[in-house]
Amino acid sequence: SWKQRLEKVSEGHYVLAKTKSMKVDADLFLSDKLLWGEGPEQPGLEDSVFDQVVNAASFPGVTRVAVTPDCHLGYGVPIGTVVETDGILLPTAAGYDIGCGMVQLQTTLTAEDVADATKRRRWIEEVTKRIAVGVGASRVQKQRRVTDRTFSDVVRHGAKALGRGSSVTERDYIPVEDDRVDIPERAFGKREQLGSLGGGNHFTEMQVDQNGRVWVMLHTGSRGFGWNIAKHFFVEGAAQLGLKSRSEDHVWLDAESPLGRDYWNLHNMAANFAVANRLIIGEAVCAALEDVFGGTASVYYEISHNLIQKEAGKFVARKGATRAFPGGHPALKGTPWEKTGHPILIPGSMETGSAILFAEPGAQKSIYSVNHGSGRRMSRGEARRVLKQDVTDQRMAEAGILLNTRQTPLDESGPCYKNLDDVLETVEMAGLARVAYRLKPVACIKG
Ligand code: 5GP
Ligand code: MN
Ligand code: MN
Repeated sequence: SWKQRLEKVSEGHYVLAKTKSMKVDADLFLSDKLLWGEGPEQPGLEDSVFDQVVNAASFPGVTRVAVTPDCHLGYGVPIGTVVETDGILLPTAAGYDIGCGMVQLQTTLTAEDVADATKRRRWIEEVTKRIAVGVGASRVQKQRRVTDRTFSDVVRHGAKALGRGSSVTERDYIPVEDDRVDIPERAFGKREQLGSLGGGNHFTEMQVDQNGRVWVMLHTGSRGFGWNIAKHFFVEGAAQLGLKSRSEDHVWLDAESPLGRDYWNLHNMAANFAVANRLIIGEAVCAALEDVFGGTASVYYEISHNLIQKEAGKFVARKGATRAFPGGHPALKGTPWEKTGHPILIPGSMETGSAILFAEPGAQKSIYSVNHGSGRRMSRGEARRVLKQDVTDQRMAEAGILLNTRQTPLDESGPCYKNLDDVLETVEMAGLARVAYRLKPVACIKG
């Protein structure tokens, strides 16, 4: 088994030495507990994840690979993988939800202000009145209408084109180098989804930190727009390489080729969609907050966890991994985070809580990346089979966590995800980042 071949470098850090197909060693940031498992609660990593790690390290042009503690099976390469490449773009290392990520809103409210469950329920209603929720849902005029012209502007030139507070984040524009590139028909057809949350584990959640301050955490991506862009390049890339199947496992693009250049530009457009999407939803959340509680909120940080970015002359693809630049990193020069490092937004689950971290200089070891969540440990199917609805609803009620659905979605409940503490402990142990805030959910709107 692959696990037997791992070498332990230090607590929380293993190396998988390169095999014949691998271009480089892979660094894995795992505690012994996450790797080998401990009791029925924590089953340990399955071998198929390592097959995908090997796959990630075997693409042409790969110069480094790192795996984060929340890693689990994905398409082609595991969720929780960081791949650094030279001159090569790997659509599978960004995944289908290009630009998926988080916004953290800091509010002026305290735990006391939101203690009233009736008010929190009203907040959920006010948010869902303003944004579309669920798979396939589009804006359906809930938000101010975005014209085709504005849409094109937003994806090409960033969220600033929405014409709202342009200083939201230093990342509200992901550079599109050649904006003349055509958007695939199928992707453009999904433009109505700008301003919608989407389904599955996308969410908007009210949280309280250890000091009693109220935050709102938001998770969504590029919806059908990004999905169709990703799909387009898996299909075109497979055709170009003469692949018959499993394109997610094998497609790579020369960044200087016409297809590679198109991917880079369209990938960045999808990322701009995702950022704008989060900011539009963030506005709805703020408006609802003011309506119900009288408090205000503003963007604390915005960051994607499915994205390829140029860093120090290389492409760094993070798939289900969060960038983690510590204080003093040159990319933060001139930003408010220059000295401290930027906030790292880590959702855990709607039941067990979330966290905000800051990177340590040691993050260099993991290609300046950490995990993007706690990671799934139980499949959706298994969750629906083995978890009990009444027990789960009861537990949520006792914890005072309100939902937009009548019943708790079993496949999104706490036990479906790895223990966030185990994951964060690994990150701290390996010297990648430290936890600054622990966030407890009090109301969650699931997609
Ligand atoms: P992904 O981006 O891979 O789809 O999910 C990111 C992470 O979000 C998951 O690994 C999980 O830890 C976390 N997560 C999923 N649903 C929720 C939720 O409703 N609330 C919070 N706080 N975290 C969640
Ligand atoms: Mn997503
Ligand atoms: Mn995501």
